[in-house]
Amino acid sequence: MTIPPHHPQSILVIDDDAALRRSIVAYLQDSGFQVHEADSGEAGLRQFDAARPDLVLTDLMMPGLDGLGVVTAIHARSPETPVVIISGNGSVSYAIETVRKGAWDYITKPIHDFAVLEQVIAKVNERAAELLTTRRRQEALEQTVADQGHRLQQMERLDPLTGLPMRQQLRELFDGFVRSADHACDLFIILMDLDNLKSVNKTLGHEAGDQLLVAVAERLRQHKPPTATVGRLGADHFVIMMTDCREVHTCIQALRQLLAPPFTLQGSELFITACLGVAVFPHDGESLDSLLQHANAALSQAKLLGSNRYAFYSSELGDRLRTRMTREAGLHRALERNEFFLEYQPKVLAKSSAICGMEALLRWQPFHQPELVSPADFIPILEETGMIVEVGRWVLETACRQFMAWQGLFRPLPQVSVNISAIQFNAGDLPATVARIIAQTGITPDCLCLELTESVVMQEIPQTMATLHDLQKLGVRLSIDDFGTGYASLNYLQRMPLSELKIDRSFVKELPQGKNALAIVQSVLSLATNLGLTVVAEGVETPEQAALLAAQGCHELQGFHFSRPLLPPQFLQLLSLQP
Ligand code: C2E
Ligand code: MG
Ligand code: MG
Repeated sequence: MTIPPHHPQSILVIDDDAALRRSIVAYLQDSGFQVHEADSGEAGLRQFDAARPDLVLTDLMMPGLDGLGVVTAIHARSPETPVVIISGNGSVSYAIETVRKGAWDYITKPIHDFAVLEQVIAKVNERAAELLTTRRRQEALEQTVADQGHRLQQMERLDPLTGLPMRQQLRELFDGFVRSADHACDLFIILMDLDNLKSVNKTLGHEAGDQLLVAVAERLRQHKPPTATVGRLGADHFVIMMTDCREVHTCIQALRQLLAPPFTLQGSELFITACLGVAVFPHDGESLDSLLQHANAALSQAKLLGSNRYAFYSSELGDRLRTRMTREAGLHRALERNEFFLEYQPKVLAKSSAICGMEALLRWQPFHQPELVSPADFIPILEETGMIVEVGRWVLETACRQFMAWQGLFRPLPQVSVNISAIQFNAGDLPATVARIIAQTGITPDCLCLELTESVVMQEIPQTMATLHDLQKLGVRLSIDDFGTGYASLNYLQRMPLSELKIDRSFVKELPQGKNALAIVQSVLSLATNLGLTVVAEGVETPEQAALLAAQGCHELQGFHFSRPLLPPQFLQLLSLQP
């Protein structure tokens, strides 16, 4: 017998009848097979695992693991390996049972002519080859189905026209956000509807409409704010999901701006506008579907107003945004319109209540508006927009000029403190600006104190230390404002060229009763004494607080108990009353 090239080459023979086994083995070896043998079911399985033969011939009746056990075990390991049973004459029905359990065929004993083995092996080989072909075909088919499924899934996830994520993928991104986010930050869902798509479709045809959608998608993709995700919900609806709450107004403006340049379609220029509807997670809904529904309601509202409009699902958020945008626009013109001015709040010596300094506080009185806007409402806008750098320079200069104007009038020269925001501190040119203002106004550097917040100073980066040292070299005093609210590292603190710590007014407020607040005040005092710093308590409102702080050894006090922040004429009057 010759072995065809694709046919099995190694055969395992399992039989406890040594004589029969040997003659089978000898016959097969003569026929050119590589043969393994085993004298029990158990040994056969071990051989099978070690040698992985292409075919197994096994006796049916064996002590221990019999032929049926072998068939079952091999079928479980490797269903494609043919197993042929060698059964005694009396056990044919059992042999048939093994075929049901996975045996491929059976031969009955006694084997008079070993050629029968050849026939069985040939038959089994044919089936194995067939099976292999079928299996390959099946695998190819399965692969095709999987590919199609993947493509279908992709089609559900990505818009075929613009390549943007669609509802399914947006939902996954949304779920990811909800699972991962610290919900301190809102998620804005902005639905955008092009005002002109219908008329483009009508006048230029649907192909032009599609081109427009692709062009809009491209602009959105390229120019969206970095924290935004853009998707498409079919028709002319685009979705923008944004996680940064402070940037939503910028995002709305950016969206409108990115549509502003004309689109070129079929050789002609086209101006496109859009309406926007905004819903906010978790305020307006917990699921993406409900948020989209609400953003859609807001969108309808916006469209009622005309083209190029936007609306918030909840009016309260809309109002907040409008106020914010009006304020921002107002602040852009506030400097040139002279709408800023400074008030000065005295700092007094704790022992004598004599004025020893003053803090310049920025005020904004918008034109056409009866009331001042609180610093808490406009300073963050100045910071976010970077306008604080220019406004801060103005504050510094104005405060120094004011100080110089008063300096000649009274003998005990107070010093002037100016607040410096993080943005200003990190803007890079602060030491140069301070140096220039010192030169221009002629103020003695020692009379100028810069109030920095803990968070600014505690960024342990070499640049922070370098700026602090540059300022120190100019001779100005450096103070840490609102001390105790941040996370000052003592080790870092002692390496900084500071002059003063201002205990935050939230601690002073708890005095005299608050035990924790008192403990904090005491520890700040002992820390400051060790570092040779002046301690100022802010927000002193009652005589009891003033007395307690003085008794604890606080050096200077500031607060309504002594004086509110005052306009220059009133401050001057206060100074003139000083003994
Ligand atoms: P701050 O530097 O801690 O200023 C002290 C704040 O406490 C001032 O509020 C002052 O009016 C208020 N205050 C003083 N005494 C008392 C008191 O006894 N009780 C209470 N409840 N409050 C008292 P204001 O003027 O509203 O300023 C708030 C914050 O705005 C300032 O806190 C400062 O961080 C910032 N700010 C003010 N002016 C400027 C500025 O020119 N530049 C920068 N970057 N920030 C400024
Ligand atoms: Mg301050
Ligand atoms: Mg403060």
